[in-house]
Amino acid sequence: MQITSDASLQTRNTLALCAHSRALVSIESENALREALAWARANSTAVTVLGHGSNVVFAGDLSSMVLVQATRGRHCLDDDGSHVRLRVAAGENWHHLVEWTLSEGYFGLENLALIPGTVGAAPIQNIGAYGVELGPFMEAVHALRIDSGEAVTLSSEQCEFGYRDSVFKHRLRDQLVITAVDLRLPRVARLQLGYPALASALALRSEQEISARDVFETVVSIRRSKLPDPAAIPNAGSFFKNPVLQKQQAARLKAQFPDLPVYPQADGRDKIPAAWLIEYCGWKGHRENGVGVHPDHALVLVNYGGDSGACLLQLADRIAVTVRDTFGITLEIEPRVYGQCNG
Ligand SMILES: Cc1cc2nc3c(=O)[nH]c(=O)nc-3n(C[C@H](O)[C@H](O)[C@H](O)COP(=O)(O)OP(=O)(O)OC[C@H]3O[C@@H](n4cnc5c(N)ncnc54)[C@H](O)[C@@H]3O)c2cc1C
Repeated sequence: MQITSDASLQTRNTLALCAHSRALVSIESENALREALAWARANSTAVTVLGHGSNVVFAGDLSSMVLVQATRGRHCLDDDGSHVRLRVAAGENWHHLVEWTLSEGYFGLENLALIPGTVGAAPIQNIGAYGVELGPFMEAVHALRIDSGEAVTLSSEQCEFGYRDSVFKHRLRDQLVITAVDLRLPRVARLQLGYPALASALALRSEQEISARDVFETVVSIRRSKLPDPAAIPNAGSFFKNPVLQKQQAARLKAQFPDLPVYPQADGRDKIPAAWLIEYCGWKGHRENGVGVHPDHALVLVNYGGDSGACLLQLADRIAVTVRDTFGITLEIEPRVYGQCNG
């Protein structure tokens, strides 16, 4: 096991924020993970798990040992002709997995193309995009307990998936290192074309003419044209979750702000685009202290070279205050925040 002390994390988060961790280990096998967890226990050191760092904010240095999940492997557990069951290692690249499933004739993940990050992080916030979430395809999550190294397996139900949410953000927060996930994918495509941006991009074709590969390519092209590439402009995607309100509250707001978009949800509540609220409050394109709000995407906070997570979080706070004062809605930050603001 190779431990790097006082490791820089700047190239390990897509916001390119400057921070160091007490120690860092790249995990390439389950044995290496067991060894690293044993070391952390023996040295009374807390553990932070990291994938590709596309959903984290480093507010300062971390006193923990960072374990970067870099394990590889994907294989078919069984195939009954109608569905396949796959086991995929946590360190695999999510988008590469989506590409591979389509090339093998396994469907369902096409709307989730080009989401940055690792397979092991995908269940943490039940990744979702273009009208599809990971949850329905997830059969099981395999993990090791951080405090004992014990292996555990959770069924999809035990993961308690919700909108950008799961048990790993609550009861099991910081308790497990996910080592692999089992997915169950249909062999026959059932395309999900209802999401407005996708529907309008494919509007000129009849449903019979559209393949899962077309959906994949359309999602990739929409995402490339709309979202800033973190390699060019460091960001963590959507910085705030879209608020989900009770119908009455949404109706009251709609009466007050007639242009407010309102998306009814399956559970009877209404989802409101956080980007609209932030733009209404005048933040789009705002820049301060080397950080800012992207000029085309009010939901994307960017690091223009300020490198300080503390400055970014101060900006996020001020945005949240104006949204609360204007609409009475409390915005929730989507990425996980780590580290002390003042080191
Ligand atoms: C440009 C951009 C666009 C994005 N678009 C979307 C989108 O459309 N939909 C969406 O849902 N998300 C989106 N995201 C967020 C991000 O891609 C996902 O949250 C992704 O799953 C994070 O993967 P990661 O490997 O980078 O996780 P990290 O950022 O490294 O980690 C995120 C959290 O998961 C935990 N974690 C990571 N791996 C493990 C593991 N193996 N075991 C236990 N805990 C672990 C970490 O401790 C941390 O708390 C976007 C991000 C960016 C930068």
